Amino acid sequence: MKVAVFSCKPYDKRTLEAASETAADIELVYFESRLSPETVSLTKGYDAVSCFVNDDLSRPVLEQLASFGIKAIAMRCAGYNNVDLYCAKACDISVFHVPDYSPTSVAEHAVALIMALNRKTHRAYHRVKEGNFALEGLMGFNLEGKTVGCIGTGRIGQAFCRIMNGFGCRVLCYDLVPNEPLVSQGAEYVDLETLYAKSDIISLHCPLNASTHHLINKSSIEKMKKGVMIINTSRGALVNAQEAIDGLYSEKIGYLGLDVYEQEGKIFFEDMSDHIIYDSVFQLLLTFPNVVVTGHQGYFTDIALHHIADTTLANLIQLKSS
Ligand code: NAD
Repeated sequence: MKVAVFSCKPYDKRTLEAASETAADIELVYFESRLSPETVSLTKGYDAVSCFVNDDLSRPVLEQLASFGIKAIAMRCAGYNNVDLYCAKACDISVFHVPDYSPTSVAEHAVALIMALNRKTHRAYHRVKEGNFALEGLMGFNLEGKTVGCIGTGRIGQAFCRIMNGFGCRVLCYDLVPNEPLVSQGAEYVDLETLYAKSDIISLHCPLNASTHHLINKSSIEKMKKGVMIINTSRGALVNAQEAIDGLYSEKIGYLGLDVYEQEGKIFFEDMSDHIIYDSVFQLLLTFPNVVVTGHQGYFTDIALHHIADTTLANLIQLKSS
């Protein structure tokens, strides 16, 4: 079976090569470029493709894949909101993903963003590098005793709640399907309005879908505490970035930590370091001292990369033997 692997960085290639050593019948061919209408013709002659979060798997691309005889898409990620699942089904293309590669990696990154913001470590480091050891403007706050709201308590949300519980925070949760074991570990499920009104820190761990698109917007921000910290390690379009900027200007939002951004396909993943396209909203976000942005690296740990590669290979082996 021949598989075209898109959006494949050198570190992906290394882990996939190691994972595929024992799968002699599967030939992986690596492409650094994104799968898109411009690159889809590269998949001619392949049986399957392997993709990542910002590959274009919309109808036009899927129909082309089907016409080339592609039978499956092995996503190397947990979220698959970039795949038109209805069209994939209609085209008879199976879609695999990696649901459980390391929830802790993303949960810990959400906590890293919280701790960068609450102790202002990003600003402190720049000062120290310039030989400036003044503490003016760097006063932090303790997490112990703070109320943390977690929206979405699936695998990552649960790991996040456990960590915040360990800091001595009160943990409020909202999910369509509450998780009972989490309650016995100290979390309280509340409605969204209560979570907005009571939380000092709100962290998003739900998937992007029609009901969560721009969940954080002018109206939800108005319901939050003044000075709230918002963390998004889930998917960029959960947050209306322009309205979050308005919240930063009005100081309703005190801190914003983003690992994901709605237009990240154009920003984080374009491999064109010398002419990166920054959109104006993103550029504006980077000017706030109380905003920390990382480039979709929540999943990016050694253990997660190995699990992603192993599960992707296991999915392809299952496909081959079906
Ligand atoms: P999961 O499927 O285990 O959990 C998602 C939870 O969200 C479920 O409990 C579900 O009931 C809940 N949910 C769905 N709709 C909701 C809504 N409208 N309101 C509240 N809750 C809702 O998923 P997970 O593994 O915990 O991953 C969560 C998200 O994290 C993924 O969808 C993905 O977008 C993102 N993610 C980001 C990274 C990264 O590197 N930054 C890595 C992996 C996953």
